[in-house]
Amino acid sequence: MKFGGTSVADAERLKRAAKRIVEKREAGHRVVAVLSARGKETDRLIADAFEVSPSPDPREMDMLLSTGERVSCALCAMAINDLGHRAISLTGSQAGIVTDTSHTKARILDVRADRITSALDDDNIVLVAGFQGVSTAKDVTTLGRGGSDTTAVALAAAVGADVCEIYTDVAGVFSADPRIVPDARKLNVVSFDEMLEMSASGAGVLQLRSVEYARNHGVRIHCRSSFDDQPGTIVVSEEDTVENPLITAVTHSTGEARVTLLGLPDHPGIAGRVTTTLAEANVNIDMIIQNEPVTADAKADMSFTIPREDLDTAKDALAALAAEHGIEIRTDESMGKVSIVGAGMKSHPGVAAKVFTTLGEHEINIEMISTSPIRISCVVPGDKVPDAVRALHSAFELSGPDTIRPEQPFGEFA
Ligand code: ASP
Ligand code: MG
Repeated sequence: MKFGGTSVADAERLKRAAKRIVEKREAGHRVVAVLSARGKETDRLIADAFEVSPSPDPREMDMLLSTGERVSCALCAMAINDLGHRAISLTGSQAGIVTDTSHTKARILDVRADRITSALDDDNIVLVAGFQGVSTAKDVTTLGRGGSDTTAVALAAAVGADVCEIYTDVAGVFSADPRIVPDARKLNVVSFDEMLEMSASGAGVLQLRSVEYARNHGVRIHCRSSFDDQPGTIVVSEEDTVENPLITAVTHSTGEARVTLLGLPDHPGIAGRVTTTLAEANVNIDMIIQNEPVTADAKADMSFTIPREDLDTAKDALAALAAEHGIEIRTDESMGKVSIVGAGMKSHPGVAAKVFTTLGEHEINIEMISTSPIRISCVVPGDKVPDAVRALHSAFELSGPDTIRPEQPFGEFA
């Protein structure tokens, strides 16, 4: 069972989570629960760091950020003990989560779950601080924003759990962000492949790495509300999905920046150098477009999108290469992206045409396009994103009966 930040934000909610955990235990299950930091605690800690340093040391950042989820776990253990059950809280390191050494974005290499299993054997409920581990160099690491999902999935795989339940502040995975599309539909089932594309293109409900990990290890995810008992969304392998709708969801993100490199020498190896430089700076490139030179001077242009928070890092990283080759770097900080995802589009022509026509009819200019077999993404001006999401959601008729209740908060969807 994993509880997100909103689900443990205050004492009342934390006690409610404790009660839910205890109910599971009383129903005869052995329970490992992963908790996120409370409310906006991680944001606060990041802000604290930037108050004392313009570029906080990554190792120390991880020491700092890992405290948020520890607080949640210790408090929850206290609440569970008061309910007459035994609970122990563990840090990621104590729980045996071993990662690589890339601070603030570490990857899990191994889970040595023997301490968890022996605590379970001793009839404990085990609470594990999400989003963190210990590196092969014995330093505390964190797994990137939203990383508690990955902790939960990794532990579920390591202990051979029946299911990994992700308790969140939305009722499940939706056909679009309900804050933008109020009649978005809750999806009962979604395939790993679709969920991967959705997480990668902006659906914040599950961290991308957690879905990857679940697919690779065959972990069944049930994403559901921590505020009621309704079933949420089950993420399963493609063979297990009964229906294959043409389009499953519209996702979006507004945190994109575009970098354009003008005047790249048009010879083999340049694209490799640009992308290697960015990879070494740990900047994740999303879409890439390169135009072949049309003029005689044999200079090419390349544009790519990256997370906006990585823009300064990217510019710094590319500075030397740009100077060496006389490349001009232009940036645009306010790009957004809208995507449609659906396993059914693999075998249906005309989906792209419908996407582009719909956006055109709404006077939304498409700046870049990328596709996968089950996704079409368009980069559009950041302020057009909500319009684009609504237009596509309605063009593909994604609304349905299973709409959400208006009183529900939507914090973790974004
Ligand atoms: N607390 C971390 C974050 O805010 C990890 C998580 O909540 O999953 O990103
Ligand atoms: Mg989350």
